Amino acid sequence: RAKELEDVLNKYIKYSPIFAVNNDLASVEELAQAIKEKALFLVYQPQVTISDREVVGVEALVRWKHPTKGMIPPDYFIPMAEENGLIAAITMFTTKTAIRQQGIWRTQGRNMRMSINMSPKILDDLDLPSKIEACVKALGADISKLVIEVTETALTTNLALYMDILARLRMKGFGISIDDFGTGYSSLQQLIRAPFTELKIDRAFIRNIKTDKESYTISKISIMLAHEFGMKAVAEGIETEAEWNILKQLGCDEGQGYWIGRPMPPEEIESWIKSWSAD
Ligand code: C2E
Ligand code: MG
Ligand code: MG
Ligand code: MG
Repeated sequence: RAKELEDVLNKYIKYSPIFAVNNDLASVEELAQAIKEKALFLVYQPQVTISDREVVGVEALVRWKHPTKGMIPPDYFIPMAEENGLIAAITMFTTKTAIRQQGIWRTQGRNMRMSINMSPKILDDLDLPSKIEACVKALGADISKLVIEVTETALTTNLALYMDILARLRMKGFGISIDDFGTGYSSLQQLIRAPFTELKIDRAFIRNIKTDKESYTISKISIMLAHEFGMKAVAEGIETEAEWNILKQLGCDEGQGYWIGRPMPPEEIESWIKSWSAD
């Protein structure tokens, strides 16, 4: 019953923009203030191979700690930032911070892959790939270890320009990941033409993979599709060993989720790796 309610709520939050608009969590002014005062920060969630549990990378996820209201979730403030012209500033912060962190880990002898979420709203600038590349060089990061994640929904608007920018990023050596796969409307043709190196199966399917035939089949087909087109399949939101085992049996390459590791501040990654490798 609780799980059922949670599912309904999750669906509601995920698919209803009205929820976000009416929810009075925080204002645009407060967000602008937060950016200025550097109240945003990044946490990193581990990604591991499913076949041999090797730690291969992390995904950078942005957080906003409000002085009185506590943590404001990115699903709330990223859409707000996109609608109010604040997304460029946030992206500049998240991209730089994540790239800098990759460079730091690289220097420390742990050249981990770093995935960075990129809003479609800022992928409208043909100079962006060069700007990010310059940033990578300046901060001593390894471009071949950087992955740009874009959501599938983003593929539907401004397609030609969008594809051009993704192709330029790919040519510079960035990996390109299609995030939340299965929730958008990209056609197979678009998928084949885009320079994706990785496909992330949405959490909604993983959550129900054990109990719902449809979710199982969608996951299975997504993995086949990824491999057929030379992409890696990554499952997000793995919360149980049962889900992990099913994904293993389906040949999914990598996984991410609370069962493996929660998003954490950078200084905790090292000890997380030790405990993960010890089990
Ligand atoms: P996403 O890129 O699909 O990120 C995965 C989300 O699932 C994260 O939520 C993560 O904390 C959560 N998650 C991971 N494993 C589990 C699990 O096992 N169970 C459950 N219930 N959840 C899990 P988060 O950090 O709240 O981010 C939500 C979304 O906000 C992201 O979805 C992404 O679309 C967006 N976002 C986050 N950081 C950034 C950013 O720096 N820039 C942009 N443009 N968008 C961001
Ligand atoms: Mg993502
Ligand atoms: Mg995702
Ligand atoms: Mg998402």
